[in-house]
Amino acid sequence: MALLETRGLTASYGDFQALFGVDITVGAGETIAIIGANGAGKTTLMRSIAGVLSNQAASILYRDEPIGALQAPDIVARGIAMVPEGRKLFPSLTVEENLLVGRYGRRTDGPWHLDSVYGLFPVLKERRNTPSTALSGGQQQMVAIGRALMSNPELLLCDEISLGLAPVIVRDIYAAFPRIRETGASIVIVEQDIAQALKVADRVYCMMEGRVTLSGRSADLTRDAIHTAYFGAD
Ligand code: ATP
Repeated sequence: MALLETRGLTASYGDFQALFGVDITVGAGETIAIIGANGAGKTTLMRSIAGVLSNQAASILYRDEPIGALQAPDIVARGIAMVPEGRKLFPSLTVEENLLVGRYGRRTDGPWHLDSVYGLFPVLKERRNTPSTALSGGQQQMVAIGRALMSNPELLLCDEISLGLAPVIVRDIYAAFPRIRETGASIVIVEQDIAQALKVADRVYCMMEGRVTLSGRSADLTRDAIHTAYFGAD
């Protein structure tokens, strides 16, 4: 049984349709990457799963139960947490206060709590009483990931966590992923950097114009197939 499955998922903003029947599966303990050009629908897919956008109930199944119509707090309570594009930290709160926000509404008896998040990202412990706005972009991204982990998710959704960050910082952030995987969590990352996506993910879905155009195991996808799925055949 897949942990998460989307079945013919559609999504619209008013009259504009952004997703046209997206089918993906995420197995327990799997890391999945969603790649695709700007506007392909990757963020819309993540926001649909996270309950930020409402969908047909049966178009998203989690542990075989329909969750497509649930709101974001109910989704978090089920064990799905999102690191949103642009981090969306609370600017008036410190690092530690931002992390504690993530604990709201979810079980606290899993592997993630303040100490283990500080163990994952030691720099956050040093800066625990600093306002989040005073952090570097990379540190802010660590807070956003830590905040999502504080809800002890079984499924972690990460939307463009490397956007705007220097390669060395991106490497530091992705270095945390094996530890997150060790807890048994499944991970879905949206990633513009194809090489990074292939490196971290077991399987990849490529999207274009609201549809999945390619899927497969990272090791099996050729550069040409990805190029065609990403940009179209021409
Ligand atoms: P990016 O890498 O730019 O974030 P993406 O693959 O995540 O791209 P989405 O953000 O999901 O793509 O956008 C899919 C389509 O939906 C785009 O054409 C976009 O312009 C449109 N769209 C996204 N958000 C809205 C919105 N709030 N209102 C109207 N249209 C939107």
